[in-house]
Amino acid sequence: MNKNRSAAERLRVVVVGAGFGGLSLAKGLARTDFAVTLIDRHNYHLFQPLLYQVATAGLSPADIASPVRSILRDQKNATVILSEVSGVDLTAREVIAEGQRIAFDTLVIATGAQHAYFGHDDWASFAPIFWLPPTSPLASPSNQINSSVGGSRV
Ligand SMILES: Cc1cc2nc3c(=O)[nH]c(=O)nc-3n(C[C@H](O)[C@H](O)[C@H](O)COP(=O)(O)OP(=O)(O)OC[C@H]3O[C@@H](n4cnc5c(N)ncnc54)[C@H](O)[C@@H]3O)c2cc1C
Repeated sequence: MNKNRSAAERLRVVVVGAGFGGLSLAKGLARTDFAVTLIDRHNYHLFQPLLYQVATAGLSPADIASPVRSILRDQKNATVILSEVSGVDLTAREVIAEGQRIAFDTLVIATGAQHAYFGHDDWASFAPIFWLPPTSPLASPSNQINSSVGGSRV
């Protein structure tokens, strides 16, 4: 990193979403001159491929959710903001997040995807579980399996 450039002179890269994409990008920019700001509505990175193990109570939700600030704690050019982004002001080049405006030179939106119900939104109530925060008791599929098998731990 060029130590001669002040923080104010550094190009500001704002990344929305600390999933696989956003987090990899933020880490990949560690040895650059950019000032990286990573914004997520959760304070953790969720390792989605292991959701199945949580669903069957093989792991606890905490095993697959790592605090974003811990992951990036040694990265001097990175700042983590816990906030839900609701819009982007392209003219002012600012991200709008819960009343804050975060200025950027380069913006990366890495907010993931949602599954489609192929026009059957009523199906969502039967298969919503993977998109709820893993720390929420409602999010644990094992709780739902639990209910359907009569309350014993799966
Ligand atoms: C059960 C399951 C198993 C999977 N198994 C595999 C596998 O084995 N191999 C594989 O390659 N892939 C697998 N995948 C897919 C993989 O997890 C996804 O492709 C990957 O997580 C997508 O990464 P992403 O960065 O695009 O989005 P995500 O990882 O979904 O991250 C998006 C982030 O954006 C944040 N966000 C969203 N909206 C906002 C907002 N408005 N403001 C602030 N933050 C916001 C979210 O909180 C989240 O942290 C699996 C997925 C699931 C659900």
